Amino acid sequence: MPNNNEDAIQKLQQRVKKLAAEKSYLQLILQLISKINTVSGLENTIDNLLHAVMDVIGGANLILYYQIDEDIFYTDVYGKKQKLETIADSQVSGVYQTGQPVEYEHDFEDTQLRSAEFTNAYTWVYPLKVGNDLIGVFKMESLHIGMHELQEYLPIFFNYTALILKNEILGFSRLQQINQQLEQEIIRRKQIEKDLRHAKNRAEEASQAKSIFLANMSHELRTPMNAVLGFSKIMQSDPDITDAQRQNLNIINRSGSHLLNLINDILDMAKIEAGRVVIEPEPFDLGEAIRDIVDMMRERAENKHLQLLHVEQSDFPRFVEADPYKFRQILINLIGNAIKYTDTGTVTLWLNVKKHDEADKMWLICEVEDTGVGISPEDQEKIFEPFVQVGKNSAQKGTGLGLPITKKYLSLMGGTLSVRSKTNQGSFFRIELPVRKITATEIMAIKPHQNQVLGLAPNQTLPRLLIVDDNLENRLLLKKILHPLGFQLREACNGLEAVEIFQQWHPHLIWMDIRMPVMDGTEATRRIKAMPLGKNTVIVALTASVFAEQRENLFRAGVDAFISKPYRVDDIFACLHEYLKVEFIYQQPESQALSTPKPLSVEEFKTLPVDLQTQLQSAAAMLDIEQTEQVIAQIPAQNDAIAAGLEQYLQQMDFQAILNLCKSA
Ligand code: ADP
Repeated sequence: MPNNNEDAIQKLQQRVKKLAAEKSYLQLILQLISKINTVSGLENTIDNLLHAVMDVIGGANLILYYQIDEDIFYTDVYGKKQKLETIADSQVSGVYQTGQPVEYEHDFEDTQLRSAEFTNAYTWVYPLKVGNDLIGVFKMESLHIGMHELQEYLPIFFNYTALILKNEILGFSRLQQINQQLEQEIIRRKQIEKDLRHAKNRAEEASQAKSIFLANMSHELRTPMNAVLGFSKIMQSDPDITDAQRQNLNIINRSGSHLLNLINDILDMAKIEAGRVVIEPEPFDLGEAIRDIVDMMRERAENKHLQLLHVEQSDFPRFVEADPYKFRQILINLIGNAIKYTDTGTVTLWLNVKKHDEADKMWLICEVEDTGVGISPEDQEKIFEPFVQVGKNSAQKGTGLGLPITKKYLSLMGGTLSVRSKTNQGSFFRIELPVRKITATEIMAIKPHQNQVLGLAPNQTLPRLLIVDDNLENRLLLKKILHPLGFQLREACNGLEAVEIFQQWHPHLIWMDIRMPVMDGTEATRRIKAMPLGKNTVIVALTASVFAEQRENLFRAGVDAFISKPYRVDDIFACLHEYLKVEFIYQQPESQALSTPKPLSVEEFKTLPVDLQTQLQSAAAMLDIEQTEQVIAQIPAQNDAIAAGLEQYLQQMDFQAILNLCKSA
């Protein structure tokens, strides 16, 4: 029995020992778990795991191999971290393949760790799995404790570790993906920004090139058109041309005007697109402008047997401040369209006003109503886009630019354009435009309308005028306008010549073309204005330029005034009146019909001194304008009528008529 008892006690003691050992292993595992529970982030979790194991179990080294997506990483307890191409450690790669833990037993190499109690060491290579998913491999080198001792509890610890690791790896990988996406997004945006900058630069360059092109175009196209229109107009009033010639001239003039309109439309549109349209409000005679426009359009309406009505409310103002040129263009365009797209019936211009919130302003309401083809609701949305033409055969009638230009001008002036229309019944275009009311003083200062000039008022000293232009036709045209009135004229073909003539001759006024070879008009103006007498000389720039900035440049150079090409004869006279106080005798409005001068009779001509007759014949035979003029200038005062008659022929370049007279005499 005692033996039995001793046996039993021994067994019991062994069991208690074992229980105590198991308890301490369980505590060990619980201690481990509690230590790795507390941090977040993949790197922190791994460091924490390695240090916790080191603290609790020890070991010569602890290494974690783990995967993120396709990549394998290495981290050990000493802080070494790297991404691996392959796993060189065959023990680890073996576990990667089998998915089973392996333990190696060996001597403690480290003498410091070796003790009486621990002579053997264990190296564990343990797979970290969540289900069948292998997350990584944990290698623990030279532990003093064998796997078998912790057998039951190890899976709990490693499963737990695997779960935490998987969680962190997933989070990290997602974060990395998001980061990558963000990086790509940033790269994409940077590229877009770069492309945009590039496109912006290119657009700016293109816009600049376009502006330069426009400035050149406007000069190159408008200057010759000036000559074509001017000369054909002059030739039209020649009494000696045949009907066929007159008809041809009409065609030249009409086609020229049409071409000029097209050029102007395209230039206007291009200027709008380049953002270079400047609104220039000034006090002007609105009533007269509207009357002029309606008179002008009436002829077109009557040609189509349409009635053009003009209905004006009594409070519609006569004078306002607005941009008169743009206003004209807007109204001409709308009335022109109404006539163009109406075959029978009436076109009506309704004029009205509306109160403005600001006391010194008012709204002009101008409506153009027609009984024409109308515009369908779908088309009504399109017609304000550039180059859009709707309806049948409209392509032959215009450029499709009128309405977009009109709308843009109105919006630049603070106004609006709207349309109502019914197919086959007619259209109704409405403008609302804010304008400033003007004062009596401003009204008095508005330039009077120039009637056709008959001649100069008596008792004036005749100023010296210098014409500077490289283009012969342009010089001739100005001479033809000015010479008959008796002005003293000289000509220069470029800026340098102009400066030289100025120094000898001191003209009162210079008509200055701007773009010329040798020396341009701006430079010549600068030089002349820098001379003592230059200050008193009026310099008028004749320019086809369309840009306000260029004008400002010219002002800075010293130009006193501008006349835009193609100019009206009235502009020239108005300028002479304004700057040199030249007084003209105007034709009365009632007798505006073109007066054809009485042809000179041979009898009259014969009364001229014979030597003058001979000189005249040789000058005319050579078609020499200057010399012919000089001879005419010598005709004595008592023969003024003959001089005027000859001047008339010369104006019309009719050398043949002069020669005929000389021969008959
Ligand atoms: P264009 O007259 O040179 O073609 P617009 O820009 O002035 O160009 O007009 C655009 C289009 O709008 C025209 O082609 C025409 O089809 C239509 N349209 C404009 N005004 C009228 C109108 N009063 N009646 C009918 N259609 C019109």
